[in-house]
Amino acid sequence: MAGLHVRSVLVTGANRGIGLGFVQHFLRMPNPPQWIFAGCRDPKGQRAQELQNLASKHPNIIIIPLEVSDPASIKAAAAKVGERLGGSGLNLLINNAGIAKPCSLDNETPENMIQVYTTNTVGPMLMGQAFLPLLKKAAQGSPGSGLSCSKAAIINMSSYAGSIEDMYVWEFGQVVSYRCSKAALNMLSKCQSLAYKEHGILCITFHPGWVQTDMGDEQLGILLPPLTVDDSVQGMLKVLSSISEKEAGAFLDWEGKVVPW
Ligand code: NDP
Repeated sequence: MAGLHVRSVLVTGANRGIGLGFVQHFLRMPNPPQWIFAGCRDPKGQRAQELQNLASKHPNIIIIPLEVSDPASIKAAAAKVGERLGGSGLNLLINNAGIAKPCSLDNETPENMIQVYTTNTVGPMLMGQAFLPLLKKAAQGSPGSGLSCSKAAIINMSSYAGSIEDMYVWEFGQVVSYRCSKAALNMLSKCQSLAYKEHGILCITFHPGWVQTDMGDEQLGILLPPLTVDDSVQGMLKVLSSISEKEAGAFLDWEGKVVPW
């Protein structure tokens, strides 16, 4: 990952799946970040065991209690991260945490729609607001005028399922609440990219591929999704190492290909 040098990164939903994959890959970099903030909503729970084991071996992993559907939790996390960073800023915010409710249009409910939107769309919006001062600080502290992930960036983990133009894998799952939340997340990413550009912050939205995680497996039943977490994360990190202001506001997949809106 020659072109990606981040001093600090925060990944939400870092205790399993793609989020944990990011933490593992950041650790393996030739120049690992000095601070890897691993957001986790239940740090003491069973599902955080692997992350806890990793953190006990690597002092640059800081587990941050973070429930992205709770504004107070987001504020508290921003304060904790700011404290740890001392006077320096946060280079990279990866809004990865997400949920899906496997439902067809016929049995979709208001509760699902609201819960999924709150987590997948409102969460990243509030995260952007809360961490903006730290991201700005990182941008101000980096040399050069262009945008890059090494300087300051927000990466929103979306999904091809949010594409309106190309109704990806409709036959496998209608997941209406999920599709709507990710289409809205794509719009949010575009808005963030326009609003935060002047602060030196690059914002994009990602489709990680169809990945072997709890969420990825749920959609397919007995079939195995085509991508491993390692392949997906490695691909995304390669993309992150090469993008600049040209890609601000783009919807890209794990190989760097543009995904239709
Ligand atoms: P997983 O279901 O494997 O993991 C989801 C992660 O998000 C967990 O760490 C979970 O924590 C966390 N999380 C969920 N809700 C919240 C919340 N309210 N607050 C804080 N953390 C939360 O999913 P993936 O790793 O597969 O997905 C990661 C991202 O990638 C998601 O945004 C997903 O939509 C997207 N994506 C995934 C695809 C795939 O094929 N896997 C395809 C396209 C997009 P906990 O353990 O506490 O539940």
